[in-house]
Formats: sequence, structure tokens, C-alpha cells
Amino acid sequence: MPKPILKIALDVPLDRLFDYLSGGLIVQIGQRVLVPFGRRSQIGIVVGVADSSEFAIEKLKPITQAFTDEQPLDVQMLNLVKFSADYYQYPFGQALLAALPARLRQIAPATSRKQYAYQLTDLGQQADVELIAKRQRVLRSVLAALQTAKQLTEVELDAIASTARKAAKALVNLGYAKSEQVLAAQRVPAILATPEPPLNNEQAQAVASITKDIHAFKAWLLHGITGSGKTEVYIRLMQHVLQDATSQVNTAQKPNIQNHGAQILVLVPEINLTPQLEARFRARLPQFTLVSLHSSLSESERLHHWQLAQSGVAQIIIGTRLSIFTPLPHLKLIIIDEEHDSSYKQQDSMRYHARDVALVRAKRLNIPVVLGSATPALESWYNAVGNQAQSDKATFNQNQANKYGLLSLKQRAVTAAQLPQIDCIDTTKVNLQQGLTPQLIAALRLRLARKEQSLLFINRRGYSPVLLCSACHWIAACTRCSSKLVVHLGQRKLRCHHCGHEQKIPHQCPSCGDADLHPTGHGTQRLEQTLALLLPTARIARVDRDSISRKHALVDILDRVHNQEIDILVGTQMLAKGHDFPNLTLVGVIDTDSALHSPDFRASERLFAQLMQVAGRAGRADKAGQVIIQTAFPDHALFNALRRQDYESYANDLLQEREQVQFPPYVFMALLRAEANDYALVQQFLQFAFEQARGLSNEVLVYDPVRPQMERLKGMERGHVLMQASHRPALQKLLKHLVGKIRTQAIAAKVRWSVDVNPLEF
Ligand code: ADP
Ligand code: ZN
Ligand code: ZN
Repeated sequence: MPKPILKIALDVPLDRLFDYLSGGLIVQIGQRVLVPFGRRSQIGIVVGVADSSEFAIEKLKPITQAFTDEQPLDVQMLNLVKFSADYYQYPFGQALLAALPARLRQIAPATSRKQYAYQLTDLGQQADVELIAKRQRVLRSVLAALQTAKQLTEVELDAIASTARKAAKALVNLGYAKSEQVLAAQRVPAILATPEPPLNNEQAQAVASITKDIHAFKAWLLHGITGSGKTEVYIRLMQHVLQDATSQVNTAQKPNIQNHGAQILVLVPEINLTPQLEARFRARLPQFTLVSLHSSLSESERLHHWQLAQSGVAQIIIGTRLSIFTPLPHLKLIIIDEEHDSSYKQQDSMRYHARDVALVRAKRLNIPVVLGSATPALESWYNAVGNQAQSDKATFNQNQANKYGLLSLKQRAVTAAQLPQIDCIDTTKVNLQQGLTPQLIAALRLRLARKEQSLLFINRRGYSPVLLCSACHWIAACTRCSSKLVVHLGQRKLRCHHCGHEQKIPHQCPSCGDADLHPTGHGTQRLEQTLALLLPTARIARVDRDSISRKHALVDILDRVHNQEIDILVGTQMLAKGHDFPNLTLVGVIDTDSALHSPDFRASERLFAQLMQVAGRAGRADKAGQVIIQTAFPDHALFNALRRQDYESYANDLLQEREQVQFPPYVFMALLRAEANDYALVQQFLQFAFEQARGLSNEVLVYDPVRPQMERLKGMERGHVLMQASHRPALQKLLKHLVGKIRTQAIAAKVRWSVDVNPLEF
């Protein structure tokens, strides 16, 4: 009999599987196992079984342990990770282990939180509550509750009385009930479902279009301005999918409450946004089990939620980018909120884009995926509308264009909520007071007088971005990065926002000895201080990464804003998203001009999205909003489009520009990055890669090695080679060969290198 050989994925930086003997243990595909590796033990995942190995059988070692109490990973999930690892040129084993909750990477059985659930026996079903003595009040209630509810978990029993668990056990002893162990669902405070508003025409049309094709793959771009009711559309879709599935199960012979037959994955860009969306979903869909998956959960919470998803108990899974790899046996719909958000792209190890992986996953499962945004990524927009702006139809790529269904919500859902008025103030024509224009100051005073709230948006934390010597023009710079040190006046520190380096603010210029050192430019802290001086009665709060480092600080501040304990919020883009403040009627935008002239070709796309988003904070309820943008370039095309809140025409203009200069989405890019302490090594490595890549394909344009804008980061000297092609398979083929060659080279071990497919940052 041939010996079964297990093909095991391990968390090691080699793009291959490892062969082990089962050692008499019975294991399944997807099972977590412990294996000897070198001098240590490692966790691995069985991804295949074979009866032969390229190595001599005698050389193979048996696995040490199989965690057979745990549910194995399903093949669908394994295949999705495998596809992603190949696509993003990353070792499969590392990608797979990284996709698991931390607890499943540790050498220990992952014990899940189990609890007992109680059901009545036939005897209990027919029993008369009156038969139980009057004074056994709790026992009577539990029996009655079980007769209506069919099954109750321990947590649900707790809601009846503190002794209800004991009573349930007593019912088991009487032969009235039986119990079984189930995965503990989350303890959720009972909430009454909030009433659902009738949909407006645009919303109804969006829901109808998507539900019409709900059992087939289709990508939908739901383009709707802030407050147009996209979330309401998601909720209706979720209801449709989950109720559909529940009714099918209920007619089945044996209803099983652990499997409602449908799961929905909702991706959100940031953990900050999950609690709000979670609360809204719970309020509207209280009958379904919802779990969240994000990095601020504890390890055991994360494992527990993940297992609820994997077992099919959780029906709504709301998570950040990594949750795209969660095993979901009944996945029927994927929703991606704020699909343009760059946090969907992982910026280290496997540099995947959760939206792109979601599209692949949906296609493989033949289910719909809904991408929602007020300012879609140009890639998505292009896929939805093709190239409307384009006059020369000869180069129109039919395969790419019109791939997605486009659904537009053009009105705000609450009829009274008008769009804010947007004004640009030319900062070159007025006298600034500590960086603020008289117009903005007057607008702030007006809001204070009217007891309305204001938000000032500035994308720079700290006191000021530069410390300058007025005598010799010395500037405080980080020694480990190509960046300036930011002044944090409160702590009397200079800080590098790239590597975290920190030093005391010097008393005199290290270069010429002059004592006249000036904090130059504005950050959130300085703005906060300026406002306190200008508007002494105002209650001001600052929201940036420094002020909300504590876990609940943001929630606290937002609560204070809602309770009208704050008049002016000062903050970075953290404030731009999702928050709904009915009494906020003014948004001021301070100094975003550097993004208008950035060498990054995506900078204007990002700035437009950001400004549309902050502008969306103004006047969400029945009060009209105003947005004041301070800029030295008020006639810039970006501001013209913004004033009209016209994403479409701006997106079409940008697409036209991208096509002219052959940037994505018209071409496909990949970046080979390298860094080392010594730039000579980086050069040598990149030169090798460059020469190899050039010889591999004539369909791929390979650029000379260059240094990125940030030449040095955290003490490492950096460089990259850009590759681009108008045909994706040509690029993928080249990358596969190139990476194979690189891995065999000694020089590759002397640098840190990585491949970034569809890079967002350069
Ligand atoms: P978006 O997700 O596009 O920003 P939301 O779904 O949050 O928009 O809707 C904005 C506001 O309008 C919310 O307060 C929501 O409750 C409300 N709303 C949404 N749809 C409707 C509707 N059809 N009728 C009345 N109010 C609605
Ligand atoms: Zn000096
Ligand atoms: Zn630094």
C-alpha cells in the first residue's frame, strides 16, 4: 500500500509545499497540524495528499500532531488564498497562515467558546406548565419559553433569570429537555428593530436591479453621494438574501438554527467605522447573527468570531480587508463599502487588494458583489462606464469597459438635507491670521453665535511640519528617513511621522548656533491653539492619531459632539468618513494644496475623494451646510468639479489624462521594490532584476531602476523597478519568471525585496 504523503503549507518564505508522513494520524485537507521543521516545531495546514514524493520516503518525517477537534479549512478558501498568492507573487504558505486568526498560528489547540443549548423532548413539548408547582417560578418560565422558542442557549437563558440555567438542567433531569454543545454566539443586547424608511425611486431601482440577478455573479458599482442612502440599499439587499434563505430552510424538514443557509460579507475600510455600521445593521436586522472581524478585537474574540463565520453560524460578517479570506460556507453576497478606500490594499507582506480579491471570490462562487462609494476608484469607474470621455473609439477596450453594472443615487435620501455650498477662498489675496482667512474666521464666529458646530480639516498632525532656523535655513530632518521632523510643541519634541524617531526640540540651531528656531507651517495642534486664542468661548476638540491613541478616545469625542458639548472639531482625515453630525453646518479645509502638485499620479484622485467626503459632513440634517476651502489655486479643475460636486465629469477628465499618458487603468503595473542598509546592494539587485526582466517579454515595458520619493526610510536605502503592460497576462507571466529567477540569486538574500502588483503608492 502506498504511504500517504501530506503536502503541507508552512509559514516559511519559500514558494513550495512540504512533504510529511501522516504517521498514522488521520487528517483531512485543510486540517491544522504540528510538524517538525529544522530544529523547531511549526504549525502547518494540510493542503494535499499524494502517494509519492520527490524526496526519498525514508527522509520524510511524520507530523507530530493533528488538531482534529478543529474544523478544517474548506477547499474554496484554500483555493482563494492560492490564487491570491500566485497573483501577488507571494509564497502560498505564508499567505495562508497570515490569513488565519493569530490563535490558529499558535502551537496549541484553538479552543472555541462553546455553550449548551437546550431543546425540549417530546415529553417536554406536551408537558403542561401548570403541572409544575407555582413556587417554581423560574422552572415554569423556562419551560414556557422553550415551548415557544424551540431552542435556547445559555446566554438566552440568562436573560430570563439568573437561575434559568439551573432550571434548564432540572428540565433535562426530568426528561423534559435535552442539551447539546453549540458554538457560543455573541452576547448581544436585545434591541428593537428600528422601522424601515420607504425607499426613494433611485434606491428602489438599485435594490430591484441587484435582486433581479441575486443568484449570479455580477459586479455592481453603487455610486451615491454621501447621505444618498447607500447603507439603506445594503440593508435591503441583506434582508432579501437572508430572508430568502431562511424561508427555504424553514420549509425543510428539520430546521437547524445553526445554519440559516446564507452569509453576507460586508467589507469596511477601517475599524473606526465598524461600530457605527455594526450598530445600524443590528438595529435593522436583529434576527440575524452578526459578527465583526477587525484588528482591535482581542485574539480570543477574533478566533471566536472567525469560527462563527467558518461554521456558518454567523450570517452577517462585517470586517476589514483581511476578512476577505475568511471561510464562509454559505456566502451569497459581498458588499464593499467605500470601495475606493486605499486601506483595502495591504502595504506589506502579501500586497493584495481586498476589493480585487472579493471580485475573484464572487466570480468563483457565482454571487453578486456590490461596490459602494461617493467617489469610486478610477479603476472601478472605468469598469462601470468604459471610456465615455474618450473620442477615439478605436482604442476603446470592450473587454474592460462596462463590465460592472452602474447604479447611481444622485439625491440625498433625507429630502430636507441639501448639498452644501462650497466656496474656495484665494489665500494669496487675503491676509491670513495664523493660517486662517478672515472669511473662515467669520464663518466660525457665525456658527458659534448660532450654536451650530464646525469641523476644520487639516491633513497634518502635530504642531508644525517644519522647524526652521531663520539665520541659516537649517531644517530639522530625520536621520533615518528622507523626511522632515514634525514639531510637537506640547511634549517639546521633534518627531518623525515615518519611523517614530523622537528627539527634544533643540534650544539653538545645530548648524549655526542661532537661537531663532521657528516652527513653520500648521498642524492640528497649532490650529487648535490658534482657535482657542481667536475664539476663547469655543469648546474645541482635536481628533488625530496623537489625540485618540487611547482605545475609546474617539468614541468619547464623538459622543461629546453628539451631545453638543463641542463647538469646533479639528482633525485629520480620520474625521472625514462616515460620521453623521446633524448640527454640523460648517466644514473648513486648510492647506491641501501640496496634493495638487504631487508627483504621485493618484494624488488628485485621492484629494478629490477626501474633499468630497469631508464636504459630506456639512449639513446632513435639516440645516444647510457650507464648505470653505482655503487654497492658492481656487481655479484648479479639481475645485471647479468639487464646487459642482461633480464626480462624474472629474473622473472622466482624469481618465482621459490617464489614457493620454498611459497610466492605470489603461495599463497594468507592477513594482519590484528593494531596500538595504547599503544602497550599493540595492543597486546591484535591481540591476540584475532589470536585466532579467528586459529579456523576458517584449510586451512588458521595464523601466530603469530608480529611487522613490522617500529615498530612505527607517534607515533603509530604497529603490525600485517599474514594469508595465497593456495586457495583464503578459505582466503576470513575466513576474512569475522573474520572481523564480530572483529567488535563486545570492544577491536577493542581501536585500529586502518585494513585488507589488497594482501598486497604489510609489
Ligand atoms: P450613505 O450610506 O449613502 O451615506 P445613508 O444610508 O447613511 O447614506 O443615509 C443617509 C441618511 O438618510 C440616514 O440617516 C438614513 O437613515 C436616511 N435614509 C436613507 N434612506 C432613506 C429613505 N429612503 N427615506 C428616508 N431616510 C432615508
Ligand atoms: Zn542655523
Ligand atoms: Zn524617520
